[in-house]
Amino acid sequence: MNPGLPVNDVHAQLNPTLVARIEYPDSTEQVSAAVRSAALAGSAISLCGARHAMGGQQFGGGTRLLDLRRLQQIGSVDSARGLVEAGAGVTWPDLIAQLHTQQGTEAGPWTIRQKQTGADRLTLGGALSANAHGRGLRMRPIIDDVEAFTLVDAKGSIRRCSRTENAALFRLAIGGYGCFGTITSVCLRLTPRRKLERRVEVITLDRLMPALAERIAAGYLYGDFQFSIDERSPDFLHRGVFSCYRPVADDRPMPAEHKELGVADWKQLTHFAHTDRARAFKVYAGYYLSTNGQLYWSDTHQLGVYLDNYHEELDRELGATVKATEMITELYVPRSQLVDFMTRATDLLRPSGVPVIYGTIRLIERAQESFLAWARENFACVIFNLHTEHSPTGIELAAGTFRALIDAALDLGGSYFLTYHRWARRDQVERAYPQFGEFLRQKTVHDPAHRFQSNWWRHYQTMFFPT
Ligand SMILES: Cc1cc2nc3c(=O)[nH]c(=O)nc-3n(C[C@H](O)[C@H](O)[C@H](O)COP(=O)(O)OP(=O)(O)OC[C@H]3O[C@@H](n4cnc5c(N)ncnc54)[C@H](O)[C@@H]3O)c2cc1C
Repeated sequence: MNPGLPVNDVHAQLNPTLVARIEYPDSTEQVSAAVRSAALAGSAISLCGARHAMGGQQFGGGTRLLDLRRLQQIGSVDSARGLVEAGAGVTWPDLIAQLHTQQGTEAGPWTIRQKQTGADRLTLGGALSANAHGRGLRMRPIIDDVEAFTLVDAKGSIRRCSRTENAALFRLAIGGYGCFGTITSVCLRLTPRRKLERRVEVITLDRLMPALAERIAAGYLYGDFQFSIDERSPDFLHRGVFSCYRPVADDRPMPAEHKELGVADWKQLTHFAHTDRARAFKVYAGYYLSTNGQLYWSDTHQLGVYLDNYHEELDRELGATVKATEMITELYVPRSQLVDFMTRATDLLRPSGVPVIYGTIRLIERAQESFLAWARENFACVIFNLHTEHSPTGIELAAGTFRALIDAALDLGGSYFLTYHRWARRDQVERAYPQFGEFLRQKTVHDPAHRFQSNWWRHYQTMFFPT
């Protein structure tokens, strides 16, 4: 008997799963054939892009896994409307490079509006399925950047989905974590490529919201606040590097040399973040301050270094006896409650024994379009990367800390992101997403045979509809 093929998520590596087989379709027609073949065999299908989600959304034990990264076609830019059609397996660096190849690299041509920060080789299909967001100061989640997409449904039928065609599927599949079908191609809304100037200050949390309001009023487009992670310092979660980006004249010369953190710098910073968090923040802040006034492009400034499997080397260097990685969580709070939330988070995290390896605050604008909408209002978004040991105790410590952070956000009228883990209790899920039960019912309406299955969906199906 086939024992199954092992797969896991890239960042946390806490979702080891055995799938029955892996298929790599490279066209919509091949995806359709794969779904029909699975239906004939009575098999379930799971869907993955670059495997960065951390709640088990991309794998289902025993399923046929469709790895969609070969859906790579990129069409010509519609320069009149600022649109491009791109395969759901395309990753951000490839899309940006292709847009440059088609139109040149100067200011003016169309390019992407936003992408996730912290990792680049994530697919368009994965971004839509999580309804991801970046560090735009006045942006909604990525649904706002989507004109239409092509989806292969549970019967293997090919459906175009937009706000006017198959509109219910449009709302369900964006932010639907692969439960409603396979997205094969996306028509993405673009924006003109701009030159931006980075402005950097180190400020305290109490000044952040007024400072953000000032930057927005002054026309800044992107920004975030990367806070101190040193739990022994009064600065912990309180002082941070505040960086914002504003458009400048197209004729400002772009310097040939650019200060940026390379692979070796990131390795060193990651090492300090695990061993000497005061130093990590000092080095990080020093580097950012040294780039004050530096020019960037509006698309490529959203790219960064991600070190694949970086924790393995770190574990070796630190002589760790138990494997560890970082788990991420993202909490949302009404902007007026940010300081209160961070005070509660400080009180929770300082004695928790779970080191914060990285953390940032950014903004999101309200968006109610997707069925499982998470940006219920204009929230402040707080991200924590927590060091997590892969032992039952280590995992429960991180999970318990995440649940306590979710309670703190919910008590202040906030919410949390479903992408990063499935550790929330049912009452937390329902408070953050009152529509979750209906989301699961809609899944069964659109996919009565439950052709598309993942560990994530199975977890919630059992949680909400125990048999
Ligand atoms: C280091 C790191 C940084 C991150 N930063 C951010 C951030 O700044 N902002 C943010 O919003 N998120 C962020 N994320 C989360 C990330 O956006 C999501 O996990 C995203 O789904 C990853 O895309 P992927 O290609 O890896 O998809 P996968 O992890 O492979 O899949 C994620 C989900 O998408 C579904 N899926 C994938 N492709 C398709 C398809 N073609 N059709 C239908 N369903 C599909 C899968 O079934 C699964 O449910 C980050 C994650 C990591 C690990």
